[in-house]
Amino acid sequence: MPVAEQETALKQHAAPHLETPGPILLLGAPGAGKGTQSKVVMTAWQIPQISTGDILRGLRKDPTKANTPLGQQVRAAMDSGHLVSDSLVEQLVLDRLAHSDTHRGYILDGFPRTLAQANWLDTQLAQSAHAGDTAFERLPVVAVMVRVSYTTLMRRTTGRRVCPSCTRIYNMFFQPPQNDTVCDDDATVLMQRPDDTESVFAERLRTYDSLTAPVVEHYRMQGRFAEVDGEQDMERVTGSVFDAIVRLRS
Ligand code: AMP
Repeated sequence: MPVAEQETALKQHAAPHLETPGPILLLGAPGAGKGTQSKVVMTAWQIPQISTGDILRGLRKDPTKANTPLGQQVRAAMDSGHLVSDSLVEQLVLDRLAHSDTHRGYILDGFPRTLAQANWLDTQLAQSAHAGDTAFERLPVVAVMVRVSYTTLMRRTTGRRVCPSCTRIYNMFFQPPQNDTVCDDDATVLMQRPDDTESVFAERLRTYDSLTAPVVEHYRMQGRFAEVDGEQDMERVTGSVFDAIVRLRS
């Protein structure tokens, strides 16, 4: 499906009404569809999607930062399937949460990814709940985990190809281009993101298992947690994500 159509299909999704969505976490392994689902929630409820992966990709592309030691640290970690340091990512999140567009809520995509980041976020939210007097500032975080099998994750990620010219996304297993290597729309040679290659993706999954899986347990223990089946078609996953958030907020 061309990019414009993909976006229209997402925007058209009917969401239940929720006046103050508050802080929402979408958890799940790389390739589980967190980014796609976060964008639907963002559009439906008019709250920002805060993706640490996107912020970091922006930082490494920024010509004023790319060649600094910080830019190089980010590039090395991302290209090898490892995590960027907690302190750097926490600072980026703190800066982003200070923007005024977060006043009704926000959806965090790709953060927290370590127990240290989860504890840091708990502390930040507890401080703002203590200091704040609005209903939003007292709202606890809700966490939704999108669960997908490793076989599907592997296919979704290592099969992904992007047209560098029009940004249309293909998947060699599920939505291949008509000609094996080039974009159907403009015949540009398709590319694979460096962190989608099989070896890097396997490393990302190992990182997820050892560092991020405990984060899921952390939120499960806190109680405001739900799991949705990410193997369903996209619309159904979206419906399950909305239902879970509304239920957790009630
Ligand atoms: P994503 O697009 O969320 O899959 O993130 C891409 C890459 O950015 C990850 O593989 C990590 O190298 C880095 N990254 C994103 N979020 C975090 C985070 N919360 N903590 C550390 N590294 C992160």
